[in-house]
Amino acid sequence: MTTGQAEGALVTAPPTAAARRRITVRGVVQGVGFRPFVHTLATELGLTGHVTNTGEGVVAEVEGAPAALARFGERISGEAPPLAVVETVDGQDIAVAGDAGFRILPSRAHGPSRTLVAPDAATCEACLAELTDPADRRHRHPFLSCTHCGPRFTIVTAVPYDRALTTMDRFPMCPHCAREYADPGDRRFHAQPIACHDCGPRLRLLTADPADRTRPPRPAPGTDPVADTRRLLADGAIVAVKGLGGYHLVCDASDDTAVALLRHRKARGDKPFALMARHAADVEHLVRVGAEERALLTGPVRPIVLLRRTPHPAPAPGAPTLSDAVAPGSPDLGVMLPYTPLHHLLLGLPGDPPGPRLLVMTSGNVAGEPIVTDDDEAVRRLAHLADAWLTHDRPIRIPCDDSVVRISDGEPLFVRRSRGYAPFPVPLPVPVRPALATGGDLKNVLCLAEGHRAWLSAHIGDMDDLATQLAFERAEAHLETVTGVRPQLFAADRHPGYRSGRWAQSHTDGRPLVRVQHHHAHIAAAMAEHGLRDGRAVIGVAFDGTGYGDDHTVWGGEILLADYDGYRRFGQLAYVPLPGGDTTVRRPYRMALAHLRAAGIDWAEDLPPVAACPPDERPLLARQLERHLNCVPTSSMGRLFDAVSSLAGVCHHAGYEAQAAIALEAAALEAGEDHGPGYAFALRAGPAGPGAADLVADPAPVLTAVVEDVRAGTAVPLIAARFHAAVADLVRRGCALARERAGLTTVALTGGVFANTLLAEATARLLREDGFTVLRHRRVPPNDGGLALGQIVVAARTAGAAVR
Ligand SMILES: [Zn+2]
Ligand SMILES: [Zn+2]
Repeated sequence: MTTGQAEGALVTAPPTAAARRRITVRGVVQGVGFRPFVHTLATELGLTGHVTNTGEGVVAEVEGAPAALARFGERISGEAPPLAVVETVDGQDIAVAGDAGFRILPSRAHGPSRTLVAPDAATCEACLAELTDPADRRHRHPFLSCTHCGPRFTIVTAVPYDRALTTMDRFPMCPHCAREYADPGDRRFHAQPIACHDCGPRLRLLTADPADRTRPPRPAPGTDPVADTRRLLADGAIVAVKGLGGYHLVCDASDDTAVALLRHRKARGDKPFALMARHAADVEHLVRVGAEERALLTGPVRPIVLLRRTPHPAPAPGAPTLSDAVAPGSPDLGVMLPYTPLHHLLLGLPGDPPGPRLLVMTSGNVAGEPIVTDDDEAVRRLAHLADAWLTHDRPIRIPCDDSVVRISDGEPLFVRRSRGYAPFPVPLPVPVRPALATGGDLKNVLCLAEGHRAWLSAHIGDMDDLATQLAFERAEAHLETVTGVRPQLFAADRHPGYRSGRWAQSHTDGRPLVRVQHHHAHIAAAMAEHGLRDGRAVIGVAFDGTGYGDDHTVWGGEILLADYDGYRRFGQLAYVPLPGGDTTVRRPYRMALAHLRAAGIDWAEDLPPVAACPPDERPLLARQLERHLNCVPTSSMGRLFDAVSSLAGVCHHAGYEAQAAIALEAAALEAGEDHGPGYAFALRAGPAGPGAADLVADPAPVLTAVVEDVRAGTAVPLIAARFHAAVADLVRRGCALARERAGLTTVALTGGVFANTLLAEATARLLREDGFTVLRHRRVPPNDGGLALGQIVVAARTAGAAVR
């Protein structure tokens, strides 16, 4: 305030000195309180004029002293409201008009909509203060929100973003809310989802009939659904709670019986559950929370943050305890803090009766199916999972799972980019035609793009499930609605069996479909998010579980020399036969046996995977490998991690994706820095021929060394750490050779294997020490959740002139 007044006082402006500018602000600037912000700013600086929403963004005309206009230009991007993301601010001098004051004009929608819908945002501090204030009219209102917080993406049914085009359309505002909504000075000016006790959505608690769970649940008799739910949770019940982007299954994370029951009902194996805590302080005795992690936990998104567990947590008096069944064997805990008013209420406000302080919060779905959003479906499909349902009558338009993020090398690394990030676009360094990329079949995320922006959908799931395929169709249609992109081109993975590819094929309607190689797409995604322009090439290191190779084998340990247009396969992990696909993915001991055989090492009884393989399975497997029956050659690095995990005796059966590799990483973390020399891969020239790489990395010496260490009784953490060091060193040597032969100095690290932060950080460090520029993912996941971004950049780039 003082700044503006001081400057106004300095300029004794005669009428002729006044100037007028039209300023266009683009980005996420609608539905986030931008116009009131402009109103306040202009008034403070003594400027006249007006501001409005248009199809292009927020357009302000401001008039006054030139110095004040300059200040306005600076502050409009520097001080924007919390949910706004200002992409560009353009100004243009226009004729002075001599307005009397500053006004907010009604929205003008014309032309194609290019405004962006904001992601859903966690309850802000101001709303939280109202939630806890007995004197406030929204005290304890489970749906309070404002222009700075609340649902957005998950309630939008069409654009422009306006209450009538959200699922709030069925809740007419009471006069009190309507007044706030219409007042430019109010925090709730044009906040579309606002509501109060008088006019907003209502909670309902339904309970199952314990005697007969097939009968529909009945409304609970109590009058306070939140208090009743908290009592149920304290008594060990599993409650399906309707959140922002779907239902969660919730139970008391301190209660061994409840957590075990949920694990059993969900048929979850040992897959870790995420937690919700009231404060970071309630988990600080369990995990390490650094400054960056804390910022993520408490920021406007509040994703699940993966935090390293304290190896041997000391008992912390007064702190909540955690059941061992929440995340058995996992080196991390996935923790989030409350992000809706309902979550705050569930964990208890100050002064509430005590209740569970740590809640398991896991997606309300049947394993493999998408998160449930529909209320009837929730009752039907979660009937065998939940004892009660805490639901409400505000529909969820589109499912949106929690995002999962960790901090690696001081930067965010996404495991899943979904709630709070979708549909915020990823800026593209090269313009693309309007296009749709359908992603991969695991962790499916689709992508629409046009010009310099790519919009990734929320996490959709694994496409082998019919319900997921339907969710994919809905997500695609919704994203088209929200973004206004009408694809002229489709991009999909080259795998002929991928359902995401088949869907693209059957929906092109005559539009071209470009098939993009899996690992090329991973590398292109990393290049795009780091802003690499056309013509730049990188050494792309793509390590993952599975990707369809040009020679019809299963690739996954690849070094490609790549730009957006194409690639050359420079290096690969040596092929070994993958016996029987999925069975072997679920049973790492089979992969270990395949690798042992390929390395010429006998299946001796003293080796853990041999002992783990049932005696009657061994001869069958041996014959299968010998005759190449139902075997596909694979160069997968993910499978090599599985093999070594089993060989070291860490994990023989994977109950969830990448469990063996995660357990191996956990073991390596215990070793610390001082693990002696790592093992070494042998590098040799590749065979000539189509699809073959220049360089082949043979893991046989690594396997021989692991076997020696196992037989010498070397501690498992040391074996695990030495293997990690071997892989990091392999990348360094491969990249050094690529630099020598091709002159490239930038390395992109990508693929699901690089979600392993121990490996990724060690590899990046070695490469940097060796003078390379290292690109790691920080906007999309390194796993298949980031694939669609790369597909679209490879397939839809427009040559030459920039398109808007
Ligand atoms: Zn708020
Ligand atoms: Zn109201």
